[in-house]
Amino acid sequence: MMDETLPPSEQSAELDTLMLIIKSFLEHLEYTLGKDKYSATRHDIFNALAYAVRDRMVERWLDTQQAYYNQDPKRIYYLSMEFLMGRTLENSLVNLGLLDDFRDAMNSLGFDLDVLIDQEQDAGLGNGGLGRLAACFLDSMATMGIPGYGYGIRYEYGIFRQNIVDGAQVEYPDNWLRYRNPWELDRQEHLHPVKFYGRVVERKNAEGNTVFAWIDTEDVMAMAYDTPIPGFGTNSVNTMRLWTAKSSRDFDLTFFNEGNYIRAVEKKMLSENISKVLYPADHIPEGKELRFKQEYFLASATIQDVIYRFRKNHSDLRLIPDKVAIQLNDTHPSLAIPEMMRLLMDRERLDWDTAWDITTRTFAYTNHTILPEALEKWPVWFLEQILPRHLQIIYEINDRFLAQVRQHFPGDTGRLERMSLVEEHWERKIRMAHLAIVGSHSVNGVAALHTEILKEKVFTDFFEMWPERFNNKTNGITQRRWLKSANPGQAGLISRAIGDGWITDLDQLRKLADLAKDRDFIHAWQRVKQENKKRLADYIFRNNELQVNVDSLFDCQVKRIHEYKRQLLNVLHVITLYNRIKAAPAGDFVPRTVIFSGKAAPAYALAKLIIRLINAVGDVVNNDPDVGDRLKVVFLANYSVSLAEKIFPASDLSEQISTAGTEASGTGNMKFALNGALTIGTLDGANIEIMEEVGRENIFIFGMTAGEVDELRRRGYDPRDYYHRIPELKRVLDQIAEGFFSPATPDLFRPVVDALLNQGDNYMLLADYASYVACQEEVSRLYLDPDEWARRAILNCAGMGKFSSDRTIAEYARDIWGVEQMEVRPVLEFRKHDGPA
Ligand SMILES: *Cc1c(COP(=O)(O)O)cnc(C)c1O
Repeated sequence: MMDETLPPSEQSAELDTLMLIIKSFLEHLEYTLGKDKYSATRHDIFNALAYAVRDRMVERWLDTQQAYYNQDPKRIYYLSMEFLMGRTLENSLVNLGLLDDFRDAMNSLGFDLDVLIDQEQDAGLGNGGLGRLAACFLDSMATMGIPGYGYGIRYEYGIFRQNIVDGAQVEYPDNWLRYRNPWELDRQEHLHPVKFYGRVVERKNAEGNTVFAWIDTEDVMAMAYDTPIPGFGTNSVNTMRLWTAKSSRDFDLTFFNEGNYIRAVEKKMLSENISKVLYPADHIPEGKELRFKQEYFLASATIQDVIYRFRKNHSDLRLIPDKVAIQLNDTHPSLAIPEMMRLLMDRERLDWDTAWDITTRTFAYTNHTILPEALEKWPVWFLEQILPRHLQIIYEINDRFLAQVRQHFPGDTGRLERMSLVEEHWERKIRMAHLAIVGSHSVNGVAALHTEILKEKVFTDFFEMWPERFNNKTNGITQRRWLKSANPGQAGLISRAIGDGWITDLDQLRKLADLAKDRDFIHAWQRVKQENKKRLADYIFRNNELQVNVDSLFDCQVKRIHEYKRQLLNVLHVITLYNRIKAAPAGDFVPRTVIFSGKAAPAYALAKLIIRLINAVGDVVNNDPDVGDRLKVVFLANYSVSLAEKIFPASDLSEQISTAGTEASGTGNMKFALNGALTIGTLDGANIEIMEEVGRENIFIFGMTAGEVDELRRRGYDPRDYYHRIPELKRVLDQIAEGFFSPATPDLFRPVVDALLNQGDNYMLLADYASYVACQEEVSRLYLDPDEWARRAILNCAGMGKFSSDRTIAEYARDIWGVEQMEVRPVLEFRKHDGPA
């Protein structure tokens, strides 16, 4: 409310701001939405508010885009099939510095801003870490004044909504646009044709050179929707441009001329299917034709747009690498490489060498996974049919590339086969990672260990040929969303102690290290955590009808469900704890609430079965009177950005337990530590770097190293050795296999045990079990000393500076993109609505 301590002139400026917000909100309700206080639904209220906020962004947005146009800096294009943005309202208000003003304004109208914030649908246009990384990067680029654009697809349906029915995952469509998306602006004029199918003809041009034309294609139009991306505490507002598929007019005419009206309309609808739905698979292959078309749709529309924008200021295309950097978020958009070649040669009439030089100096590729099954490969016949010109170009790239390999490594035919862009098995396939490496000047991994594995194991041949191309960019997260917005209690405590410089300079959290010994600070820290845990407990009670002990250790594993992430290992530990309590019901046990959340790909049977197992174990444990509130198992349905924002602040323990060498980086690990959780983890991905930053003594490390995993595999791994050697483990596996947790269907979980005992236990859960359980005992012991626990949690938070996505982006900017930050100008006050100038 009004700050009466301010001088009268500033009090009246505050009042003006409030009046302007109220006016803007009411005008949108009435004129944009056609509603009044009698007819407005809660969606109308939200949308009117969102429009009022968007107006504040649009002012800065137009200025920023005009400045980019005038100053013509190098532009960064971040191409990603996924942007897991989550909610926008609170983040926009935080970044614009208008949260309190809007809270007061809505309050004076009788609305609770927090209720409205919690009402927003997530924009769930991504599966998990990869999509969320793209979203964090957009926030950092805008905050740092880097002229960055996110390019993606405007899926009509994002990641499915997960319900749990009788313990099992059930998927529902995510109709996120149903109540309109107030943040986007449709750009009817930004339209590019994207071609499919057809055939290629060659002819000689006037100079006697062979030129190619791709004709008789079926064209789909890509239409742009733009979303403003505000930076924090700056005027910079960048753009996320998402493409939607629209049938082309030509397309309509062809079929209408055939005289079959219904067929014509059907075809039109089919062509618009391209942007209909996000594929819900994370780290598992999705060899579908529609997915392939989506990837090309993004690539083609974006490269056309990039060249169009470049041409507004330049005529010499050879300057593209000076003005454009394109970052490929995994191989998903890597058809952009042959598309750039096609446009430069067939449309712009450049020769191969010039086009190739421009392309390779413009593109950079980020690898996100080393799981062999997740490396994309597309059947050659897809390209033959759908992208015949691109297949020619890829073959030509490959021929020239293999000639280079021959020169580098004479007589090494094995190497030629391994490095070829074309895999020659019974079905010929294009290896998209090889295409991305050959067509880029930079290849980066996303954590130090991951990059080493890329160099030493996955892409060794390429590393030996082009060592200078490989580099590491450890992932990061934006502290604006993951601390300031998600955990205002902890953020406020930190700011009162060390100032608020950390919001744009996360290294300043180091100043907390001195406070880790300060009694008052420790107690304030504990109070914040307890408040956050109460809030999550309320959420659990409302959603799962389960009462949890707020004083218990909140032990959280929240992420996609995947064998390599080893949620199952966590379940084995939970059952072990249960058995120990049952064996000594009067014993002393440190109370735990084990919280799981995450989606399984709908076709991933074992991952879905693991969800059922978690819930089945929960049914037994949670209802056993011997256990009481010393152990509870919670599965929170529908993991998403907005749910994550509720879980991280309330967590005590962060489970980061993937088999060493399988998790490229992880970013959930960073969000937890930033929010004051201690980590139990393997030496995998960014866990290693987290350990380096917070100190070995402040993190719980267990299990094999990546090297030991390799070594054990080489020696020959037999999971049964562990089964027979460790009685508690044998007991747990027998219980699962014999139906202890599924008495009505005793065989239900047998496939889970089969995977471990009879199918090789690919992710070596049994080898790490004993070490994990022992490490969990250490965790429990430490929890008995709340002050020491809090001290270490504070030191974890203090060590998170490195994991800001601002640092990651600064490294991309310096090492890969060669761009500098533009000058960050101060925030404008309300401008257009200040009244007559
Ligand atoms: C951060 C985040 C992820 C990535 O989590 P990992 O633990 O790194 O796999 C996935 N989904 C959501 C919603 C996230 O916020």
